Order: sequence, then C-alpha cells, then structure tokens
Amino acid sequence: MFEKILIANRGEIACRVIKTARRMGVKTVAVYSEADANARHVRMADEAVLIGPAAVRESYLVVDKIIAAAKQTGAQAIHPGYGFLSENEAFCHACEREGIVFIGPPVAAIRAMGSKSEAKKLMDAAGVPLTPGYHGDDQDPAYLHQQADAIGYPVLIKAAAGGGGKGMRLVEKSADFLDMLASCKREAASSFGDEHVLVEKYIVKPRHIEIQVFGDTKGNVVYLFERDCSVQRRHQKVLEEAPAPGMTPERRAAMGQAAVAAAKAVGYVGAGTVEFIANQDGSFYFMEMNTRLQVEHPVTEMITGLDLVEWQLRVASGEPLPLAQEQLQLRGHALEARIYAEDPDKGFLPSTGRLLHLAPPAESLHVRVDTGVEEGDEISPHYDPMIAKLIVWDVNRDRALARMLQALAEYRVVGVSNNIAFLSRLTACPAFAGADLDTGLIEREKDYLFPGEQKVPDEVWLVAALAELEREAERARTTARRDQDPLSPWHSRDGWRLNARAQRDLILRSGDAQTTVRVGYRADGYTLAVNERSVAARGELNPRGLLRVELDGTRMDATVIAAGEKRHVFLHGRAWQLANVDPLYHSGEGGGAEGGLLAPMPGKVIALVAAEGAKVEKGAPLLILEAMKMEHTITAPAAGTVKAFRFGVGDQVGDGAELVEFEAAEAVQPA
Ligand code: ADP
Ligand code: ADP
Ligand code: MG
Repeated sequence: MFEKILIANRGEIACRVIKTARRMGVKTVAVYSEADANARHVRMADEAVLIGPAAVRESYLVVDKIIAAAKQTGAQAIHPGYGFLSENEAFCHACEREGIVFIGPPVAAIRAMGSKSEAKKLMDAAGVPLTPGYHGDDQDPAYLHQQADAIGYPVLIKAAAGGGGKGMRLVEKSADFLDMLASCKREAASSFGDEHVLVEKYIVKPRHIEIQVFGDTKGNVVYLFERDCSVQRRHQKVLEEAPAPGMTPERRAAMGQAAVAAAKAVGYVGAGTVEFIANQDGSFYFMEMNTRLQVEHPVTEMITGLDLVEWQLRVASGEPLPLAQEQLQLRGHALEARIYAEDPDKGFLPSTGRLLHLAPPAESLHVRVDTGVEEGDEISPHYDPMIAKLIVWDVNRDRALARMLQALAEYRVVGVSNNIAFLSRLTACPAFAGADLDTGLIEREKDYLFPGEQKVPDEVWLVAALAELEREAERARTTARRDQDPLSPWHSRDGWRLNARAQRDLILRSGDAQTTVRVGYRADGYTLAVNERSVAARGELNPRGLLRVELDGTRMDATVIAAGEKRHVFLHGRAWQLANVDPLYHSGEGGGAEGGLLAPMPGKVIALVAAEGAKVEKGAPLLILEAMKMEHTITAPAAGTVKAFRFGVGDQVGDGAELVEFEAAEAVQPA
C-alpha cells in the first residue's frame, strides 16, 4: 500500500478520498488554488500545495503543476477524483512517465473510451448491444444527414468527446438536422476542442442505468450491480439510486456481463462505469464508459457495504480485487441527491455566496453527507456549485424515500439559493415515488415540481415573530449581565422588565406581502395574533437558531436564522424566507403602538426628547436615533413612565441595545 498519495481535485470528492486514505493509514497531500486556501479539503489533508490562481486552467487543470506537487511532497500516487484531469490521457501519461501511480485505468483504456465513437466501435466488436446509429469517421454534413434520415427521427447528435451532459442536440425532424449539427459542432469545438460527432437513435422515455465495474491488474473484472440515474435535467443527473427499481436478477446479470465485457475489451483496471440507455421494456444499449470514480458511487457503496476508494487504492497498489463476483452482495436500497447552490425557480441558475448557516442532517447508518464545505465557507463562481451529496440507505426503496425526505427536511442552508425544496418535491412526487422513471420525469412533472410562490402559513409568521422576541429577550439578558459590571453606571439598576411592556406589533414581510403579528406579553411567554388567529406562545432560542416552539400547548422545533433583515424560517421540513420590517419606519402609524425600546440597528443617539421620570402618553416621542443617515424616533409603546435613558446624546449604540427603561402604566397582567 502507498504511504502517501496526492489528490488532484477539490471539494467533496477530495474530502471523500482523504477520508478513506486516512482510515487506511495513507498520508494525503491536497492541491489547492488561491481561491481554495481555506477550503475543507486543504484543512483535512496532511499537507497541501498551492498550485495557482482560482481559474481551473491555471491550477487544477495544469498537469505540470500537479506532477511537481507530487514530486515535491513525495506522493507515490495520484487520485484524480472525477472531472478535472480524471479522464485526461496526457495527465495519466505524465504520471506514468514520472513514475507516479495514477489511481485509475491505464492510458490505453482512457484513450479507448475517451471518444464515444471509438468506444462504440470497440463495444460492437465485443458484442455489447449499441444504440442504433452512426459512429463512423465520415463527418460530411450531407452524409450525416443521410444517416440520420436512415436511422429515423428523433435522433440525438452527440459530441464524440462530450461529457457532463454537454454537446448534445435532439433533432425531431429532418429539416432541422443541419442547423442542429452546426450548433452541436460549435459547442463541441468550444467545450471539448473536438467537433467530431456521432448520430444516435433517440430513445423515447428511456432510463439511464449504469453498471459499476472494477478491474485489477491480474485481469479480473467484476460488476458491483447497477445505479439508476434516470432523474436528470438537461442530461445531468439529479437523483440517483441503487438498485434500479424493477430490475430482475436475470437482466442485472445480463447488463453486468455486458459491462464486464466492455471493461475487458479495453483492459480496464480500477473503478469504471458502463452507462446504458434502457427502454421501458428493459432492453438496453451501451451509451458510454466513464473511466473514473463516478459522482454517484456512494449509492453503490451503501448497497454493497464496500468502500470503492479503498478498492481503488488496493488495486492501484497492485493488490487483487478484494472480492470475487459471487462474493458480492446487494442489500437494501440507497438514494443520492445532489445538493447544489442554485435556484430551481430561476432555471437552476447557480448561486454564489457565503454559507452563513449550514446544518446538514446528522450522519448515521442511514444517512451520509459527502461535502467539501463547512459553515462560513464560500460557494465561489470558479467551481461547481455543489454543496453536498446526501446519501440515504434503508432496507427497501419506500423506507429509503422516507429517509431522504426526512434528511432533506432537516437540511438547513442559508446564504445561497439551493435546490433542497426542489429535491424534496422530487422525492415526494408520485411519479418518482412510484418509480415511474425516465429521463423526462422532471420536465413531465413540472407542475408538481415548480408550484410557484406559496402562501406563508400563519404558523410560519408566528414562529418568525417568536424568534424575534426571543432574540430581543436574549439581547436584553446580555445587556443586563453586562450591567452587573461594577464599573457600569447602570450596575445598581435591576434589569429590563419583561412585563412592563405593553402590546406591540411586529411587521414581517414575504416578497411584497407584509404581515403584522400583534404581540402581548405574558409572564410565561406571549400572546401572538396574526390573521385573526391568536395563540399563547412560548419559545426558547439557542445560539444556532434552533427554536423550541410551543403554540397553544403544541410543541414543535423550528430554526430561524437572521441574516441582515432576512429571516430564514425552517419549519416542518420546509424553508421560508421572510424579512423583518424595521418597526421604526412605522412609528407613529396605526395608533403608535409600534416602536420598540431597543435600538433596531446600530446608530447614534442625537436627542433625548422626553425627560427622565416623565409620565407620557402612548406614542409620545422619547428619543431620536440616527442610523444609516436617517433619523428614527423611538416612541412610547404605551402610556407610562420614562424611568431612565440608557445612553446620552452623542453615544453610539449597538444593534438591539436597550435605549430606554420604560414602565407602562398598565402592565399586561400575567395570564
Ligand atoms: P457522473 O457521470 O460521474 O455522475 P456527471 O454526469 O454529473 O457525473 O458529470 C460528468 C462529469 O463531468 C463529472 O466528472 C463532472 O465532475 C464533470 N464536470 C461537469 N461539469 C464540469 C466542469 N464545469 N468542469 C469540469 N468537470 C465537469
Ligand atoms: P455524457 O458524456 O454527457 O454523460 P451520455 O452519452 O452519457 O453523455 O448521455 C447523457 C444523457 O443523455 C443520458 O443519461 C441520457 O439521459 C441522454 N441520452 C444519451 N443518449 C441518448 C439516446 N440515444 N436517447 C435518449 N437519451 C439519450
Ligand atoms: Mg454519461
């Protein structure tokens, strides 16, 4: 076994490889770009080498820099992860030349499978079933058009060098063919530097089923069953599972043997995936082989109980495959959801920003989270916006679906848009739950999956208001504790009196819609009223934003995260984004009940309007605060007495600082 390996990748896959290496006692070297100086994979590795600026062309894709990092640190082998240089012949070749083990297949296998056209020729010779189509060398547009006409429409034009769902064009009718061909070639040239294409029969309502294969240097090849990756958007995988629903043992064996034949035909070593496109009747055709560890390999690990990275390291260091075909067992059902920083309602537009709050579900026998980020990290525009892969396992598909829904419900991400709610709807949608799978599922179910803006339930307003009140109370307690300081001029005063405050309104917003929550104070909590519903509410907020809620005696857990004026409310497995409307903008309106005695934002006291000890009417101006270049008047929330000002003119006050000690004439009686 190696003593030290270098991981030529970043993000979750680099972390995932490091985890296994560490468990096996293998030291790890990370490489990183300037943008990744504090990335999780760098923190996890034993050593890390800076390889250049953020742009991948100047760092993660530069073969020489990575080889130099391996030599400098004495790494004996390089794990390429997926993407980046993982299927790059020149890189594999450079490793070989420098005497560094490439943890992956031999150069010849990468080359053979690198072109979808060449791969199909080889597979044809090996007797693997192929999608009807043309994958020859003649690239004359008129000739390709003729071939497409002969295949029959619809057809798919594919870039031979394509990957990641790019460089494909669906052609519905002959008249469109030449335009589509030209546009496919343009994309192929710009994305892959190679405009060679092939033409295939487009399979209608197909499933994407792939077989995990593994080979060793002794010529053994096994298959580790299948994964169903039919749920895709724009030909990119979204949810994956293993085993494939409805798969019979006979068909599994047939597909497995076809995949093993494919791997053997190219002298395959290490982890690889043979992708098939399958008709609803189960007939299947070879699509391509990915000569690397696949993004969705964890579902295979969950159903086989194996660690595929461990197998990769063993095989790369010359050991035979740990298990033979008949020793491999399939148990239960696993699902993987790719959690991305993207906005499903805006065409899955990637989102960038800091992860202000990140709370994945707890890992267990049933739940696994593979991630490359932690709270506080940045999702940068330079790389794939993946936040994590969420993988669940249970004894059967229904139970696994329930695990997935629960885990998604527990997942909290604040700071970037994300697809968690979308994934929940996808998991719950009757077509997916009923295993009515094909690559068009998302498009077909779009009404269910994209329900549009939804009305905020009363409970969500109540929970948001409760969190606000608890946050204020916590600040008041902090202030009171600070006041215990004997040097403080306020040390002799008893703290803020909860019951002394009368009724007030909290104003919250969702989109353009404002909602007022009327607050009454009670000895053991509050009375909250919203939209004609009034409840007795109590809460307890922890510093992580976890709120234990009691509404009219019903207990529930929520999370409320404040970020600027935004309030991210997580309740009953759903996320809502509200905003807190500054009450001071409304002081004097609606009877003047609004206007807290706490500073709503950092600012400067510019005038004390009322006198200490004065008896004032409700709504009377007490003090003027200047914040964000605006004046805000703090008014009396009820008729009462100004006991004391906590600050003088010219003082800077912090967000939430108590400004005035005020005693309402009619304290709300404890219920
Ligand atoms: P897999 O086939 O392993 O499930 P995908 O089909 O999602 O993975 O993507 C195919 C490959 O393309 C993956 O290795 C992925 O990392 C890679 N990939 C996708 N987008 C990019 C990109 N912008 N830069 C580099 N690699 C990418
Ligand atoms: P990539 O290298 O981008 O992964 P693939 O050849 O694996 O390209 O195809 C990606 C996806 O495109 C498949 O998972 C499937 O959804 C769709 N696809 C590919 N070939 C066909 C086909 N002949 N008919 C219908 N859909 C196809
Ligand atoms: Mg593919």
